[in-house]
Amino acid sequence: MSARTGERMLIEQGLRQAIANDGLAVYYQPRVDLVGRRIVGAEALVRWPHPERGIVSPDSFIAIAEESGIIEQLGRWVLRRACNEMLGLERRIRESGGQFHLAVNVSARQFMGSDFIDNVRSVLEETGFPPTSLELEITESCLQTTERSLTLLKALDTLGVTVSIDDFGTGYSSLSVLRDLPVHRVKIDRSFIVDLQSSESQQAMVKAIVALSRIMHMSITVEGIETLEQADLLQEMGCHQGQGYHFGHPMASGDLLRLIEA
Ligand code: C2E
Ligand code: MG
Ligand code: MG
Repeated sequence: MSARTGERMLIEQGLRQAIANDGLAVYYQPRVDLVGRRIVGAEALVRWPHPERGIVSPDSFIAIAEESGIIEQLGRWVLRRACNEMLGLERRIRESGGQFHLAVNVSARQFMGSDFIDNVRSVLEETGFPPTSLELEITESCLQTTERSLTLLKALDTLGVTVSIDDFGTGYSSLSVLRDLPVHRVKIDRSFIVDLQSSESQQAMVKAIVALSRIMHMSITVEGIETLEQADLLQEMGCHQGQGYHFGHPMASGDLLRLIEA
């Protein structure tokens, strides 16, 4: 136990330092329109380039950042960095008649934090990133305290920011709650895609989510697309956008730029 506590303290301390010294990095995973197969956006995913451990993935520090409260600073840092790094690319694509949505993850504690909306507003103002090209990915756990969630979602809607539900299908959000909230998009979790071709029940689940989203006027992004066959099947099923190793791994901003140019 004491070894684990020591390890957690090291991670907390290291994270605080990394945020203060701009020592974190953001990678971007392309998001593709499944019909036209063009890049229409990217998801920002935080990375921690660690002097001894190499590039540390968020799964090993997001939970600790949440429990310790560091997530609020970390979330603000990621949002600001991502808006700054994607500003030029977003403008270029928009001015040439296309669209580019930047998606940024928001954890439940960050979402419920007292100055969340002010933070989003001030980062948008500071960076000049257009709110209508920003998408915030929240999880089903953000919707549990319905009244407060509704107030926050309405405030984001007023700002013009898109909201999506990440890892959809893995949590416990009731359908009636979803119906009443200003949520624009669902992201179907990777776990539904893994055995998609061979599993009729997985296909039935995806079809059900597609039908549900249509009724609720929400669009769909599918996560974890690893093969062309999966992409084709999901397109046939009526899913709009996809993300996954088949289209591109998360990459540094310069690499995304080169990929889009190519
Ligand atoms: P997520 O938001 O659901 O992000 C998708 C994860 O799936 C990413 O892992 C991505 O690299 C991975 N992935 C994408 N395509 C594929 C694929 O085709 N196959 C497989 N096997 N995996 C794929 P990553 O970057 O390690 O992030 C893990 C989680 O950490 C994210 O899940 C998100 O919940 C969280 N996270 C990342 N960045 C942030 C952040 O800035 N703030 C917060 N609050 N959470 C973050
Ligand atoms: Mg996400
Ligand atoms: Mg996800």
